[in-house]
Amino acid sequence: MRKIQNYINGSKTNISQKELSVQDPSTGEEIAKVVLSSKDDFKKAIESSKKSQIEWANTTPLKRSRILSNYKNLIEKNINDLAEIVSKEHGKTLADAKGSVTRGLEVVEFACGIPHLIKGEFSQNVGTNIDSWSIRQPLGVCAGITPFNFPAMVPMWMFPLAVACGNSFILKPSEKDPSCAIRLAELFSEAGLPDGVFNVLQGDKEVVDLILESSDISSISFVGSTPIAKYIYEKSANFGKRVQALGGAKNHLVVMPDANLNQAVDGIIGAGYGSAGERCMAVSVAVAVGDIADQLVEKIHIESQKLKVAPWTDPESDMGPVISKEHKEKIENFIDIGVKEGAVLVEDGRNYKIQGYEEGFFVGPTLFDYVTKDMTIYKEEIFGPVVSVVRAKSYDEALNLVNNHAYGNGTSIYTSDGEISRHFTTNCKIGMVGVNVPIPVPMAFHSFGGWKQSLFGDHSVHGMEGIHFYTKLKTVTSRWPKSIQSGPEFVLPTN
Ligand code: NAD
Repeated sequence: MRKIQNYINGSKTNISQKELSVQDPSTGEEIAKVVLSSKDDFKKAIESSKKSQIEWANTTPLKRSRILSNYKNLIEKNINDLAEIVSKEHGKTLADAKGSVTRGLEVVEFACGIPHLIKGEFSQNVGTNIDSWSIRQPLGVCAGITPFNFPAMVPMWMFPLAVACGNSFILKPSEKDPSCAIRLAELFSEAGLPDGVFNVLQGDKEVVDLILESSDISSISFVGSTPIAKYIYEKSANFGKRVQALGGAKNHLVVMPDANLNQAVDGIIGAGYGSAGERCMAVSVAVAVGDIADQLVEKIHIESQKLKVAPWTDPESDMGPVISKEHKEKIENFIDIGVKEGAVLVEDGRNYKIQGYEEGFFVGPTLFDYVTKDMTIYKEEIFGPVVSVVRAKSYDEALNLVNNHAYGNGTSIYTSDGEISRHFTTNCKIGMVGVNVPIPVPMAFHSFGGWKQSLFGDHSVHGMEGIHFYTKLKTVTSRWPKSIQSGPEFVLPTN
């Protein structure tokens, strides 16, 4: 059986003999075993990260940028292999996997600009003959803990920028699809990154806790579910760390009566069912405003029935399986609850079977109508191919739904009315907003992050927020001794 190890100091290694099964979600078969790191593995990673960081921080930003540029070329060259690694363990379609690697690659492209991005600020004569400047310095050893749904893209939101800023980085990927992280690390070494600057530590809660408690680690970047994000945020803060912890979501797409209906339906189908709904920016709630609801539900229903649910090896597949048997059961349980609580089940994806893949973790596209704000399927994140239609009488009612939900990751409005769209973008309490765009995921040179229960901490990921998160600000005020002799001063200097 293939063994997925750690990647420490430029080579694959493990001390712990504890292992966990990694499955192919399309067949349910075990395809590898991943090492669950122990305290000894952790110590090895920390020593290597601490040692390499000192020299790396003294490497000029231009030299760092050249290594990142080599890395960008290598990822482009290997993009099909990387996508296949993602699809094999995650189950998403190959085209979707390739798209996600590309979104990660864009962060590497952004990080190549590090000499410019890290430039400080300078003011001449803040006082007479006194100059002042600000610089941004690396934090030291940074760590990232990432979820199963984007095994390439989410880690790449973090480590390229952390490393570009002069830090070393320890990645703890999801134990459900851990291979991609190792390939990303090997390619970074091939690009010329010194050993130890980027280490991968496989494992579960045990190693996460060692990371959070370590006084040798300066910052934690986390992406995953809200309960764990909250735990990471609180524990990291207790141990004096800088932390950004991104959590779950329940993204609403509001369809106004004047919307282009076909565009809105395409948006809901792609963003609701793509990647089997396992995206933090998936549309899980469609809010139909006014008299558009009947038509909207009918069209979503017709289009959802056309989707091809199949393994990633089928080039015509629109969506693959969900990640595990337990997750399939959890989603189907939510559907049971939806029915019990009185929502109208228009399309039922339970007990979905594909010939030849009977043991795979497939859930078919599921559509609920007449969902209300008190129902469990409305309040909780399902993280599967389930779309709930909520009917709202007015725009104000729709906006209140968006604003009163506990999650605040993404939202979108479909309308032809500029005034409504401006009101919505200004007044919704959500981190990422789309207008006639279903998944408003910001590009690498902007920043990604939600509000409310979708992000704990002050910084979003990538863009300038990422540069600020992975650096400490230092401001220097300087006067040369011969410029002025004025004797001691006992009041705060003013100009
Ligand atoms: P998860 O919270 O179960 O796991 C995330 C990471 O935390 C994994 O590396 C896992 O090993 C670790 N972990 C799990 N339980 C832990 C514990 N008790 N103590 C310490 N560490 C623990 O999330 P998941 O199921 O892998 O991913 C899906 C979730 O991630 C969804 O809720 C989704 O919305 C969210 N997500 C959010 C974003 C975002 O940008 N906000 C992006 C992607 C995914």
